[in-house]
Amino acid sequence: MSTTSQETGADITRRLGVRPIINAGGPNTMHSGSRPLQEAMDAMQAMSDVFVNIEELLIAAGKEIASLVGAEAATVTSGASGGLVVQAAAAVSKGDPEIVARLPLTDGLPNELVIQKRQRFSYDHLYLAPGTKFVEAGDDNECTPEQLEAAITPNTAAVIHLESPFRNRKVVQLPQAAEIAHAHGLPLMADAASMLPPRDHLRKFTSQGADLVSFSGGKAVRGPQSTGFLIGKPEWIEYARLVNAPNATVARAQKVSKEEVAGLLAALRVFVDVDEEAETTRYRRDMELVVDRIAEVPGTIVSVEHNYDHYIPHAVVKLTDSWRGPDGPELARRLMLGEHRVYVTSGYIGDDEIWIDPLNIQPGELETVASRVHEELVKAASEG
Ligand SMILES: *Cc1c(COP(=O)(O)O)cnc(C)c1O
Repeated sequence: MSTTSQETGADITRRLGVRPIINAGGPNTMHSGSRPLQEAMDAMQAMSDVFVNIEELLIAAGKEIASLVGAEAATVTSGASGGLVVQAAAAVSKGDPEIVARLPLTDGLPNELVIQKRQRFSYDHLYLAPGTKFVEAGDDNECTPEQLEAAITPNTAAVIHLESPFRNRKVVQLPQAAEIAHAHGLPLMADAASMLPPRDHLRKFTSQGADLVSFSGGKAVRGPQSTGFLIGKPEWIEYARLVNAPNATVARAQKVSKEEVAGLLAALRVFVDVDEEAETTRYRRDMELVVDRIAEVPGTIVSVEHNYDHYIPHAVVKLTDSWRGPDGPELARRLMLGEHRVYVTSGYIGDDEIWIDPLNIQPGELETVASRVHEELVKAASEG
């Protein structure tokens, strides 16, 4: 509870003329990420009372994160995206103060990042911010270990690996990619931004050989939207810290405030302690309710999905060959109109699916989500 402002969230959005949404599409940044835990908001408020040396705070926060998640070492970043910039910068500079100071100028240095072509993704240009460039391995259809290895040259600074829904098929898997990188004396840098839960992913990718793994603090961890963290090998975490904000480096624009650091730690402390089985059961029950409500629209198949590609149970609507209505993105657009604007995901892997993600659905909103999706599906089915 704020004591300094009488405004509610509804007041602020009304004053600005911005219409709120019901977020049934998951922790997507454009749709506000996730709701920070009360513990995170309280820690941010509390931390605003004190001044510290930020370097000392970041080192201590890194130690706390490492001990919370069971990693060798960790450090705070500005979102998982900030972690990608820092991974690349660390790979090129490896703690050398002269190189740290001159990035993004990389002339004469190994500055190539090997990435499997099938793993190229919409945020990967962040890896290029420190003056690096990609060398692609394999093609659009697959990448073999031989192709990955053949892309490595004396100019390679790191091998990049993505752990993300639908990006992990017909690619060299992380353990083998790490083995190949290490055989050439190179680090394996992994982006696992959205791969929590399950919580055992906090240890999995490093135990498989990744030297640095980037996670979001503002997705399911429910810390401040702007936060993230890297975990990994102590020497690589140190290289990452040296090239990260607040130091005067290529990553200086990626600052994280002491309040945000405290908020991330508070959220992580809660996150690692949650009974994941009970949490999953709750999400599954909610999604089964939605599935029951929207099932039996002709041309659709509705199911609860929970697997590598769906980090928590989702309600997934598949538009089948017999569907004659508009595609998924058009249905998603229509759901954002009307009195209750409902955000759902579509178009991520194809235009024939709609995903409903329970993470951000607030108490009392589930029925609205189900009835709006049902209403639009029934209307659209009759258009065919
Ligand atoms: C969400 C996401 C990011 C960005 O994470 P932020 O914490 O929002 O910066 C990067 N990579 C992947 C694969 C993601 O899913």
